[in-house]
Amino acid sequence: MDPLERYSRQMILPGWGRERQQRLGQKTAVVIGCGALGSHVASHLARAGVGRLVLADRDFVEWHNLPRQALYAEADAAAGVPKAVAAARRLRQINSLVQIEEHVVDVNPDTVEPLIAGADVVMDGADNFEVRYLVNEACVKHGIPWVYGGVLGTYGLSAAILPGETPCLRCLLGPLPPPGAVPTCETAGVLGPAVAVIAALEVTEGLKILLERHAELLRSLVMVDLWNGDFERAQTQKGQTRCPVCDEGRYELLEAEQGSMAAVLCGRAAVQITPRPRQSLDLTALAERLTVVGRVDANEYVLRLDVEGVQLAIFADGRTIVKGTDDPVLARVLYARYVGS
Ligand SMILES: [Zn+2]
Repeated sequence: MDPLERYSRQMILPGWGRERQQRLGQKTAVVIGCGALGSHVASHLARAGVGRLVLADRDFVEWHNLPRQALYAEADAAAGVPKAVAAARRLRQINSLVQIEEHVVDVNPDTVEPLIAGADVVMDGADNFEVRYLVNEACVKHGIPWVYGGVLGTYGLSAAILPGETPCLRCLLGPLPPPGAVPTCETAGVLGPAVAVIAALEVTEGLKILLERHAELLRSLVMVDLWNGDFERAQTQKGQTRCPVCDEGRYELLEAEQGSMAAVLCGRAAVQITPRPRQSLDLTALAERLTVVGRVDANEYVLRLDVEGVQLAIFADGRTIVKGTDDPVLARVLYARYVGS
């Protein structure tokens, strides 16, 4: 059977064809975050036949993800499977021709550059601005095109960013908003179909980049309020003001020393503890030790401990998300008490 047969309906689109389909099959896309946006984006890219798909996500599937996170099922939430792992497993069933690489990892100044190395496009599936601005700096620094997308409530935005050609995210949205200044999906909610629309906009621009059809990029910030039916598109072009990132090459987030080991996850009532250096935990042994203190649920990637009114999700590299508090001091105390200092 012709391996390209499955792509026949997209190859007959104007300007696509076998030759560009084959070229798409040699390209790499990196999806940062595999939540609602990221799982829709990854699904479309895998189905379309990108060559290599790199998935990065720090969290695991929970029940409240299922209404909009396209790649996950109830069994993933029940078992607490990391999103990158569950997504990769599902995508391999969908298109075995795609080389899929999953990373259960926090995207931060230490990890972002290795993750995007060799990418032809980077796709935004992040759930917070700090990660997006970090990805923006890394992509501008390495000259890698990337596609921004964000959804809140019934509203969303998307824009493709070509370093050196179009404004970057810092040009478009101004300085990084301080923590707590913008609502999050946890506080404002999110409409599943609005995610699907923004993901579709993102992937369409991403495909133009991967198919080397840059002339057809929208070069716009597209804004959609799906509930009200408002669709707006603003042309983006470099303005008069100089941008610290794309004009001056100042990568403040990328070059920042890693902050404290405890970071409050914005709007989440959760704190992430990142031990340095990385550790290598034996989750099975730890699970045995912890069953006497609280309810333990473990798989090969993550151990969940319900204790003292919070939940600790402990990953094999020692990284731990303490859910149910936004107090970094308490989170560190609990981490020291149950995981070790
Ligand atoms: Zn800029």
